[in-house]
Amino acid sequence: MIPKPPERSALEQEQFLKILSREEALARFEAALFPRALPSETRKLGAALGAALAEDVTAPIDVPPFDRSNVDGFAVRSADLSAAGEGAPRRLSLNGETIHCGTAPALQVAAGTATPIATGGPLPRGADAVVMVEHTQPAGLDAIDVRRAVSPGQFVSYAGSDIARGEALLRAGTIIGSREIGMLAACGIAEVIVARKPRVAVISTGDELVQPGGALPPAAIYDTNGAIVAAAIDENGGEAVFLGAVADDEARLEAAMRGALADADMLVLSGGTSKGAGDLSHRIIGRLGQPGIIAHGVALKPGKPLCLAVCDGKPVVILPGFPTSAMFTFHDMIVPVLRKLAGLPPRSDAKVSATVPVRIASELGRTEFVMVSLVAGKHGLIAYPSGKGSGAITSFAQADGFLRVDALADQMPAGTKAEVTLFTPHVRVPDLVVVGSHCTGLDLVTAQLAHAGLAVRSIAVGSLGGLAAAKRGECDLAPIHLFDDKSETYNTPYLVDGLELVPGWRRMQGIVFRKGDRRFEGLDAKDAVTAALADPACIMVNRNQGAGTRILIDRLLGGARPEGYWNQPRSHNAVAAAVAQQRADWGMTIAPVAHAAGLGFIPLAEEHYDFALVTARKDRPAVRAFLEALGSDEARAALERAGFRPA
Ligand code: AMP
Ligand code: MG
Repeated sequence: MIPKPPERSALEQEQFLKILSREEALARFEAALFPRALPSETRKLGAALGAALAEDVTAPIDVPPFDRSNVDGFAVRSADLSAAGEGAPRRLSLNGETIHCGTAPALQVAAGTATPIATGGPLPRGADAVVMVEHTQPAGLDAIDVRRAVSPGQFVSYAGSDIARGEALLRAGTIIGSREIGMLAACGIAEVIVARKPRVAVISTGDELVQPGGALPPAAIYDTNGAIVAAAIDENGGEAVFLGAVADDEARLEAAMRGALADADMLVLSGGTSKGAGDLSHRIIGRLGQPGIIAHGVALKPGKPLCLAVCDGKPVVILPGFPTSAMFTFHDMIVPVLRKLAGLPPRSDAKVSATVPVRIASELGRTEFVMVSLVAGKHGLIAYPSGKGSGAITSFAQADGFLRVDALADQMPAGTKAEVTLFTPHVRVPDLVVVGSHCTGLDLVTAQLAHAGLAVRSIAVGSLGGLAAAKRGECDLAPIHLFDDKSETYNTPYLVDGLELVPGWRRMQGIVFRKGDRRFEGLDAKDAVTAALADPACIMVNRNQGAGTRILIDRLLGGARPEGYWNQPRSHNAVAAAVAQQRADWGMTIAPVAHAAGLGFIPLAEEHYDFALVTARKDRPAVRAFLEALGSDEARAALERAGFRPA
């Protein structure tokens, strides 16, 4: 056997010592934290919404506090009216007071008399029932005739009939909503003792992080986790205290963590847990209190590097750095614990069943979460997996929910009926579904629909993926820009029965370079590429296999493989970014993207961005609205302003 080099095995020892299943990790974490007494606090009624009652509340008074009239009418003695009827009116003389709400009665209702009383007025002494004003006739100024028999207690709410003094009004653990607040207010209770919100300190870690609002230097990114974790803590009954981002520096991080724990009930960090250079937090945790790390490495995807710890009774969590990984692990593993600490019941997420239209590959041995967008299919809902990686924050915002692939499965086959956990309480099925290649021009057209209140869902899966979805009838329109080598035309050759072409717009493709680069300035595309190939220091950026742009590039290169050829990003924007950031000197993208990035541009050929329309869906109102918007002067002008040429 070849012995392992010592350095590597030391690293491996530190590396996720033992990966636990999510169930095992959660069970150990909860066992280290519960049971525990929840701290409580007194809150004014107006600030108690959403809090969990820490103690039972007993009614201190009767509600209503006195026998009360339910109607506008006259307080009477039922015995006086037992024989009254249509043919036998009974005359009562009126007492010299009227009882309004808030008026304490002064006069007794003696036999043969009545006292005018308003809804909510307290019943006077002697009276035992109320007769509605509609059931009486005035007889002069100080008497009435009653033509109906009245039973004792008619139209009277007795003291304590709603809430009786001494009754258990609300139980400990009840979440205070508006109805509970109403009950408490009716009893005159101004303050309640509720579970105190756990104060949760939030720290982001990483040298690369800049807070939103700050300028972004090269290689830096905005701190996403700080904001999203703090908001998710507040959403789940905690009180987030965001302490900013700390650089990957052991001493500074330890000081920040100690300071946070001195003040807070819980500490949530993100980043620095996947054991790259500068991954320090987990080492520091060992020095912060007992028992320390409970689980480091959980069989979740995304989210494997999650670290759970308890330091002297306080939970300390390190979430993975990628925002979506951070959020999934937070919701799946941290929210249950946070809600318990806040005295709240487990979260109840809405779930729906939906069919998965494509196979989803999954890693064996890890519970995998896959974000999905929901659209209406022929037989119920369809759940499209979001194609972006664990670093993509937009996939969170655009998805409707997520599904879970079991740890023991290595895939979810196409056609599987899966349970989707919704991010919102209800499914919002979009009015218009666009699946295919994305283009910023599309947003300029759909803006009109959105402003008219129509929900547009655009799912970016590329031209071929869109075409497949259109063939299956899962979308209304598939935006495509597919070049056919044989016919040298765009899109039309790719259509099949049931699909028709709606012309979209043209996108000028050409060579991007940094303005002022003499190798390109003033040349046409062919000469520019010749110049680039002649300079061995010149680096290109290519496009992915299958992209229409790639075909153009390969033609221009004529078999050459210059430096940078294997850098093959999947989008127009990535090409522009590579050139703007000097990782490459030239590439091919579309004019609007080049201009938006402030780059030089040499036009070469127009690409056709059109729509494959599902004929069977042509008459849907949202489709008609889209076609109308596409042809409108407004959209055409907007497209032109952005550098597109409407067809
Ligand atoms: P780490 O676990 O620190 O190696 O981070 C993994 C990835 O997540 C890296 O690409 C980080 O830049 C990114 N990341 C870490 N923290 C944050 C954050 N607070 N906001 C956005 N991205 C982050
Ligand atoms: Mg980091």
